[in-house]
Amino acid sequence: MRAVVMYAPGDVRVDETERPTIVEPTDAILRLAATCICGSDLWPYRGADHVDHTPMGHEYVGVVEEVGPAVRDVKVGDFVVGSFFASDNTCEICRAGYQSRCVHAVPMGSIGTQAELVRVPLADGTLVATPGIPDADLVPSLLAASDVLGTGWFAAVAAEAGPGKTVAVVGDGAVGLLGVLAAKQLGADRVIAMSRHADRQALARHFGATDIVEERGDAGVERVKELTGGLGAHSTIEAVGTQESMMQAIRSTRAGGHVGYVGVAHDVSLPGEELFFSGVHLHGGPAPVRRFLPELIRLIWDRTIDPGKVFDLTLPIEKAAEGYQAMDERRATKVLLTF
Ligand SMILES: [Zn+2]
Repeated sequence: MRAVVMYAPGDVRVDETERPTIVEPTDAILRLAATCICGSDLWPYRGADHVDHTPMGHEYVGVVEEVGPAVRDVKVGDFVVGSFFASDNTCEICRAGYQSRCVHAVPMGSIGTQAELVRVPLADGTLVATPGIPDADLVPSLLAASDVLGTGWFAAVAAEAGPGKTVAVVGDGAVGLLGVLAAKQLGADRVIAMSRHADRQALARHFGATDIVEERGDAGVERVKELTGGLGAHSTIEAVGTQESMMQAIRSTRAGGHVGYVGVAHDVSLPGEELFFSGVHLHGGPAPVRRFLPELIRLIWDRTIDPGKVFDLTLPIEKAAEGYQAMDERRATKVLLTF
């Protein structure tokens, strides 16, 4: 089968690899309907994370082709969505809603889902079936639920977005844009998207942004304060993972407010004294997408939300390298790969 492998930073190839097989009795094998490239795949691509002949990808939707003997709920032929962490969904951490930190969690990135077929561990705990085989136009949105939508949604929940709240969103990648969508769906009064790209601003408005701030850093913080009576946002979504974006998020938030941070942190260190006097709540980490999947699938199935709009380039898997390049050069927000 065909699978995307990153040989070294900047060197993405599509190899013919071994078809996966059931390893554990709780495994399922999926034939993917589509997969995609994540903003976080750019960290190794740019040499910021170690990479050496690594299978790529952690987002996936598709049809169950085979299940292990201990799988009870997931059936062959089901169309399913899963998260980027496999989880048992039964341990204390999972039951508390933090499936990405399951005591048995398996990162799907360690398996690689930019491939025709994928082995999913802990199938019953990880996979959620859709009501039927989706129309083709719903596939991108269901794929978005696997990571970027689930992550943006968690960020909005962690930031306590809701009625009466003004939500600021730092980061205009796919996760930030879907954080806008989530904040709107959760009932926020105002959603301030921070972006300097016209196409991303337009999509942010489509998803529910009421205000756009083009400034970054301290100037961006000042603009958010001007828009919020000098106080800052009630809720801020951080969807980048750098020192600058994290501090921008904390400083854009009013005392007593909440920051939901989901950008994978790279060399972020927080100044203790500033944090102490900020009076801001911080909550984030790898999103427990599994917690939100049933609701997200329902909203997509009912066509209430259309998160698949974040995909602005679709390529056959053979052209994966072109997709990485387009995202690296910011010519594409998010790339969908087809088979
Ligand atoms: Zn668990």
